[in-house]
Amino acid sequence: MVKNSKIPSASLERVALYLRCLEEIKSKGEIVISSERLAILCRTNPAQVRKDLSYFGEFGVRGIGYDVDELIKSIKRIIGADREWRLCIVGIGNLGLALVGHENFRKRGYRFMAAFDIDPEKYGMELPNGIRIQPLSEMRDTIKRLEIQIGLITTPPSAAQEIADMLGDAGLSMILNFSPIQLRQKEGCIIENVDFTVKLDNLAYHLKELEQDE
Ligand code: NAD
Repeated sequence: MVKNSKIPSASLERVALYLRCLEEIKSKGEIVISSERLAILCRTNPAQVRKDLSYFGEFGVRGIGYDVDELIKSIKRIIGADREWRLCIVGIGNLGLALVGHENFRKRGYRFMAAFDIDPEKYGMELPNGIRIQPLSEMRDTIKRLEIQIGLITTPPSAAQEIADMLGDAGLSMILNFSPIQLRQKEGCIIENVDFTVKLDNLAYHLKELEQDE
């Protein structure tokens, strides 16, 4: 049994990327892949690929490469991508609606089981996947009853901390926060933040540097 609690999160993120590349390669009928080729496809280097995969155990045959199917299965099992994870989402506005309706979550084993909002006009509204928007007062019971494991926050930033606390009180310790504030974290709770504008800031910085060099 591999203990992945000590695997650096940067490696985990890269391994999730390798998995996507491997699935693409498999769909093209390829059976074996070298660390060199996987590195090129994932824009990293072969030593990094070998190091990342070594956290998960012994894979590959020296001089031959990795069996694509076996590696996909092993990575999925180890990172938990071979099972279904139950999600709830709080704040069903533009972003929340787009996320619930997006095919990719279901394809990768993430299933939206419940959606909550504070706006009474939205209560009972059916979303593209068939679930209905519920009031916040039903959050605790619903999370327990449906054994939800991960909560997404897509409320305005002013509401996000309160929602994170409510999700925590309802027993959730895994939160994906899309609102642009840093949330206080309870002990044992993991909060991942997603902010496209941070990525855009990074690109804007590089663009500015390029302009200065001209
Ligand atoms: P929106 O105004 O369209 O939707 C917000 C929803 O949250 C509404 O349905 C509203 O009723 C609900 N809401 C407000 N207070 C609530 C509360 N206390 N409890 C439950 N629901 C509540 O906003 P949007 O455009 O969907 O954006 C949502 C959030 O996502 C914002 O914080 C925005 O800044 C952020 N955002 C992040 C990214 C990113 O890259 N991470 C991109 C776009 C938007």
